Amino acid sequence: MGWSFHIVRVGGIEVKVHVTFLLFLGWIAYMYGRVGGLAAAFEGVLFVSLIFLCVLLHEFGHAFAARRYGIRTPEITLLPIGGVARLERMPEKPLEEIVVAIAGPAVNVAIATLLWAFITVTGGFAESGFTHAALDLPTKLLGINLWLVIFNMIPAFPMDGGRVLRALLALRIDYLRATHMAAGVGQMIACLFGILGLVGNPVLVLIALFVYFGAASEDSMAQFKSFSHGLRASAAMLTHFQTLPLYATVREAVKALVHSGEHAFPVIDLQGKLRGMVTREAIINALRQSGPQTALSGIMRTDVPSVHYTMPFERAFALLQESQCTALPIVDSNEQLIGLFSPENMKDLMLIQKALAEAPEEELEVSDNPPPLPTNHRIV
Ligand SMILES: [Zn+2]
Repeated sequence: MGWSFHIVRVGGIEVKVHVTFLLFLGWIAYMYGRVGGLAAAFEGVLFVSLIFLCVLLHEFGHAFAARRYGIRTPEITLLPIGGVARLERMPEKPLEEIVVAIAGPAVNVAIATLLWAFITVTGGFAESGFTHAALDLPTKLLGINLWLVIFNMIPAFPMDGGRVLRALLALRIDYLRATHMAAGVGQMIACLFGILGLVGNPVLVLIALFVYFGAASEDSMAQFKSFSHGLRASAAMLTHFQTLPLYATVREAVKALVHSGEHAFPVIDLQGKLRGMVTREAIINALRQSGPQTALSGIMRTDVPSVHYTMPFERAFALLQESQCTALPIVDSNEQLIGLFSPENMKDLMLIQKALAEAPEEELEVSDNPPPLPTNHRIV
């Protein structure tokens, strides 16, 4: 995640904090300090830091449970809204997903139990006369850990409870339908929160939106995964596209941009070999900074990976995301450009597959390994 700072490395997991989290701590210090001076500011920051320590331990719970199944967690990032553990992949067996999902809240149950034992031993609950914030701290943290357990176990994506629900359903029905049902339950809960929020606490409206869109994105991610499983890069290959010659200038690129509506163009030399990709941003920047006479060869990206048409779809999609380019060139075994791997195309393919799945007795023609199609690209 961009704008994150490395803090510490524990058991091979990098702990980072996002810059907004540091701003949040600063804001807490300011708000507490304004009311009660330096001591209050320190207390406020300590309290919030302890809350996030509990959140961090929760994420470590997920990470260490995932490790049992051979899944690595390269990093955990703390944001003002909570922690995010980036697991290398999600466990595929439902029972493993349940263990990984429950491990997080289980950590908070353990912390709450320890705090409860501590408070009981020191007689904290009995001394109701204590009002000083520092003495209240264990009690407040106990409450927060219980809240973390309850909130995370709400059976709605993207909370842990949503994953547990999906995994429980996936024990009986297939993964895609289980995700769809779990997402539906999550969205119903979100609507309920929304209504409660409108008549009561506006914070609930925010949570409702977070849950609603979290559920929707989990659902479409599962659909995308199931759609792309077993496909090759060629299944999502755009064959009508525009290329730009290596000797062209930004002037030609601007024309292509306006007339084709595409956002990334492969640049090819006289032999038809792919030399790079030029993006809309690069074209516009060059137009602003160095004018229409700028040579394309100077502004094209040469680090965009090309994809062989037989590459598994999932691998090509991961490359596309890493490259931060709107399309990847697809090449044949002679390194000749034969198409573009483009996300726009994928959305349409998914819609087509959905429509065909609903239409009875139709064969879907997104075949596994088609011969490379004839190139049909236009050259400016
Ligand atoms: Zn969690």
